[in-house]
Amino acid sequence: MSDSYSHGIFVTTHYFTTPALEEVSDNIILVDRRILHNLIATYFPKELAETMYYQTLDELKSCPNCNSGKLIKLYSKNKKMYYYVCETCKGFHNNV
Ligand SMILES: [Zn+2]
Repeated sequence: MSDSYSHGIFVTTHYFTTPALEEVSDNIILVDRRILHNLIATYFPKELAETMYYQTLDELKSCPNCNSGKLIKLYSKNKKMYYYVCETCKGFHNNV
């Protein structure tokens, strides 16, 4: 690190190595994966929830109508059958 700075923040999306932890001085703030995640959860909770929601949708099949939405599996008690609804275009599908 340059001698021209008296304070600093190091941020990583992973964790700091042991040599990095041993090398750091008191005027350097280390932000690792856990701290970064907590900061995002504190200051951007809505965006974090939205990201987590869409990441879990990756496992779902894409809509054959709009090709952008994901198909949510639902059950009709009246017809006693499963069906799918696109979360984007709201189209219904019996077989996918
Ligand atoms: Zn669709």
